[in-house]
Formats: sequence, C-alpha cells, structure tokens
Amino acid sequence: MSLFRPVCTTAALCIAGLFARTAAAEPGFRLETLAPGVHAAVRTDPPGLMVDANCLFIVNDSDVVVVDAPEASTELIASLKRITDKPVRYLVNTHWHDDHVIGNARWREAYPGIQFIAHGTLRDYLPGTGAKNRAGMIDGAPQAAAQMQQLIDQGKNLAGQPISEEERQSYTSDIALVANYMKVVPGTADVLPDLSPSADLVLQRGTRRIEVRRAGRGHTESDLVVWLPQERILASGDLVVWPVPLVGGEQSHVAGWDLALQQLLALQPAMTLPGHGPVQRDDAYLRQLRDLFADIKAKVADARRRGLDLAAARKEITLDDWRRRFAGDSPVRNALFRRYVTGPALQSAWASP
Ligand SMILES: [Zn+2]
Repeated sequence: MSLFRPVCTTAALCIAGLFARTAAAEPGFRLETLAPGVHAAVRTDPPGLMVDANCLFIVNDSDVVVVDAPEASTELIASLKRITDKPVRYLVNTHWHDDHVIGNARWREAYPGIQFIAHGTLRDYLPGTGAKNRAGMIDGAPQAAAQMQQLIDQGKNLAGQPISEEERQSYTSDIALVANYMKVVPGTADVLPDLSPSADLVLQRGTRRIEVRRAGRGHTESDLVVWLPQERILASGDLVVWPVPLVGGEQSHVAGWDLALQQLLALQPAMTLPGHGPVQRDDAYLRQLRDLFADIKAKVADARRRGLDLAAARKEITLDDWRRRFAGDSPVRNALFRRYVTGPALQSAWASP
C-alpha cells in the first residue's frame, strides 16, 4: 500500500489455538506461534496509509515454507534463523504488490535453493504496473512523509484540523515506514516466480500438507492463499486486510471479491493471517468483508439497472453505514475507509460488474 495509490505498494476453534503465544521479535513485527512450527510475523504498526505486510513461517520436518516477502525481509530472515536452521525451500508470493514481493531477493541470498511460487500473472504485473507503482512511490513518498512531519509539528491532521493522538501515532509510523521503504526498495531487483501453478497446488513436506490455492479475483486479478488443512490456518494475503480492506480502483475486482471470500469461509479457518492486521481467530471479520463487497456489487448493479452513471451512483451509494461499522469513531480508520473503500470500490465494481 502507498500514500498515494489505493493499494498496498489481511468454525470452531481448533487445537491450533491452544498453541497460540507471542514471542520476542525484531522491531516492527511480533512473532505468534499459531500451531507447532507455524509462526506468524505480524506487523505492529498502527493503522496508517503506508503499511508493511505480514509474513508466515511454516517449519516442516526438514525444510521451511514462507508466505510473502515484505520490506522487512532482512529482519524476518534473522528471526526465522533464530527459530530453525532448516532451509527455506519455497516462498509463496500471494500477489504482485511490492510489500509482498520486494523481499524475494533477500530470501534468495539467504537461501540459494529457494523456489518462488506465484500466480503466472505476477510475471506481467511486476515489471509493468508494479514498476510504475514503485517509481511513483519512490518519487512521491519522501515528500509526503515530510508533509506529515510538518503536520505533526503544526499540530494538524491531513484535513487541517487539530491532530489527535491516534493520528499523531499513525503519521509517525507512516514516516518511519517511508524511511524504511526508501532504504530497502530503490535498486532492489525483482525476483520472478520459479513455479506458477495453473491449479491448486499441494506441497507435502513430510507430515505437513500445505495447499496453495487460487482464490480468483478480488484484491487483485489473481490472488493466491495458503491453507494448512490439518491446522485449519489460512494465510489470506490481501484478500483480508484489517481494519479496512485495501481496494484499488483499477487493480482490484470488487465484483469477484465476495465470491473469493466465500470460498475462504467455506474452508472454516480457525485462524486467518491477513495480509495486514492481526491474526483473526474467528470468521466474523471475513464475513463482514464478504457482506461489504456483496452489498457494493448489488447496489452498483441496481444503479446500473436504473440507468444511473457512476457520478450519480456515487451520490447514492455513500457506504456511510459500512464506514461506521468498520471505522467507528476513529479519525484514522474513517480516513482509511474513505481512501481505500469509498472511492475505489465503487470505481472497481462499476468497471467490471
Ligand atoms: Zn496488496
């Protein structure tokens, strides 16, 4: 996700819950053990415009499988090496956004035998739209960070009103994330996938079954998720992001998103590691997301039937009720919902009904 572009530039409680604990980790994320050998690296930044992604380590009998490669991959590799000296055999990129792939080069340096798994479309998007997004970030992010620092110094928020403590913490975190982005990203070479499954893929690693599933259209044209059926743990990528979904008007497919989430709900996950945000230990948030996207799709279809154009539909479909449900009274979350949902979600649903 970026400061400018509206996309990141995430049953019965099973036995896995019994193993949940929190361990010490590098600054910026915490490690949570979700089941024996299954460790979530969860970002600890407060909600903001600029986020880094979560990561999952799956330690098997003789190797490791990792999900996603965010900016903090150097620190994540150091954390993993404190857990195990087994080699990383596979890394799954859930989708092509920088905060899920930019660390690939670091992982390959640390584990030369690693193989990268991603949807085949990543080969097109990363050098195309991905490179364009990255150039925009490198050009614009430092100036945006400087403006945020200026607002903090002046005691104002982005709307020019007195800044709240929540906003101050969010802006401060965003400034630090921009600094890290500028340290890590420029000059980092893309590492494209070695394997692009044309159907769901099963990785049987000793006793561990790991499923790489094609979830269809949603956050992007082709999102992958990783499912551990024995532990009932799901790594959803950005199909699930907390506290508000990340929608890109051009890059996301709102009309398919509710169906993708319905597929995930049908798995009955006991725990879901979102692309961004804390581990979800029931399916309430996934259902809320599914219902949001289904509602947007239905409202847009109805507006089309009545002959409205997008501008007229926007006046009717304000999503204010949904904004209150996701954001409550939080100024930061309300601003995030407006930026990442209200504007782009209608655009996306309108573009591909
Ligand atoms: Zn994303």
